[in-house]
Amino acid sequence: MSTAGAREWSDMSFNFQSGCRNDCVYCYAKAQAIRFGSSSPDDWNEPRLKMPKRWPHGRLVMMPTTHDIDRWNVEMAKDCLRRLLLDGNHVLVVTKARLSVANDLVRLMGDRSLAALRDNVEFRVTIGTADESMIRRFEPGAPDYHERLMALRAFRMSGLRTSVSAEPLLGGKDVFDDLYLRVRRYVNGRIWVGKMNMPRSRIRMNTSHSFAEPLIDWIVERQGDEEMYRLWLKYRNDEMVAFKDSIMDVVERRSADGHGA
Ligand code: SF4
Repeated sequence: MSTAGAREWSDMSFNFQSGCRNDCVYCYAKAQAIRFGSSSPDDWNEPRLKMPKRWPHGRLVMMPTTHDIDRWNVEMAKDCLRRLLLDGNHVLVVTKARLSVANDLVRLMGDRSLAALRDNVEFRVTIGTADESMIRRFEPGAPDYHERLMALRAFRMSGLRTSVSAEPLLGGKDVFDDLYLRVRRYVNGRIWVGKMNMPRSRIRMNTSHSFAEPLIDWIVERQGDEEMYRLWLKYRNDEMVAFKDSIMDVVERRSADGHGA
């Protein structure tokens, strides 16, 4: 999750914690926290409470962007989601979802007081690959692929609005081809896909240079312009697929260079 990504999807971000047990090596929020001295590479995975000073009304809110929802904070997440909806906001919940959390949120949205507001929330599950070995390297504390898929399924089976974020994609076009076939049946919105932003500098900062450089080289190579352009060509007319700016920038660059489709 990133602030830039949040702006592509919403008016504003909403968080009640800083820090995240998922500890994704590419995390924008972690890199920012380290840069501004509020966190270190080693303590980002110990979230701190940070309630917002002001609550939005009538906005399109993305929640969360500086933490995730897990069993330790799900009650607070439910309270916040309820209040945001009752205050007239539309809420985009973006999460590397745990199944138990999804079930809790489904139960919350079954509450009679929120019945008229069910369409004002969308649950976007972040899944960048189905390859468990890659998830463990890049998102060491996050739920595995199957748990996220089951969480997505739980939202969808409950008639809630669902989507997927394959940003960052943890691989190249072949990884997205595989993922698309696996998740599409549980999505009634869109499947977003985007590159990993600034992988070298961000991963090095977040891991104190301890992350395997060949794996950084691998992701940079797999997300080169040619590969991302081929991905765009294949899915550009698929209404279910949406491209983040990181891929559209490649398309625009190629068009400007006279390499367009
Ligand atoms: S889920 Fe990953 S990217 Fe999102 S806030 Fe947590 S550590 Fe950062």
